[in-house]
Amino acid sequence: MFDALSDLNVFTSITAVGSGGADALSEGLSCNQEALRLTDLGDYIGAERQHKRVIQVKESSLPKYHTSIGISYNGLGEVYILMNRLDNAEHYLLPAIELRKTNGPIMDLAISRDNLGKVYEMRGDLAKAREIRLQDAPNNMCCSNYTCTGIMQVPLSRLSRCGKCKSIFYCSQKCQSVDWKRHKKYCRQQ
Ligand SMILES: [Zn+2]
Ligand SMILES: [Zn+2]
Repeated sequence: MFDALSDLNVFTSITAVGSGGADALSEGLSCNQEALRLTDLGDYIGAERQHKRVIQVKESSLPKYHTSIGISYNGLGEVYILMNRLDNAEHYLLPAIELRKTNGPIMDLAISRDNLGKVYEMRGDLAKAREIRLQDAPNNMCCSNYTCTGIMQVPLSRLSRCGKCKSIFYCSQKCQSVDWKRHKKYCRQQ
């Protein structure tokens, strides 16, 4: 597990790279992978700490709208969704969306929007979830199954929406049934 000592080592290695953007990027990348690994292990507190540290390094050494910062904002937002800390999730997903609107990549913009849609879903605001997901329709959408292995950026015409709440979109029946375990808690007739 993530103990205090390895934590300290990571921190030392980050501060040692100095303020060079390229160093921050490569360091950020490996720390980002570590954050994903911790998320997979269910260590959300460790993942949160890791993401925050990476964000701090990136914000101080990269241009404001660097795509790499968007990756970290989005990643931390996803961790907060898993922790059910919805205000925190929104706090990072909104700037991830703004940043990706400016600098792309457009495929990731759809993913951040879908994540924010999940936040609204969890708050019980299905109309708002639908609105955010459709904001860049019809061309830039994504499947709402987080583990979807299909193409990531899809047009609305290739997606089917949940017939009950009409607020969430999937590329296949398989993706809908995979996500149902999560979505059924929030789905209601619209
Ligand atoms: Zn899918
Ligand atoms: Zn539904």
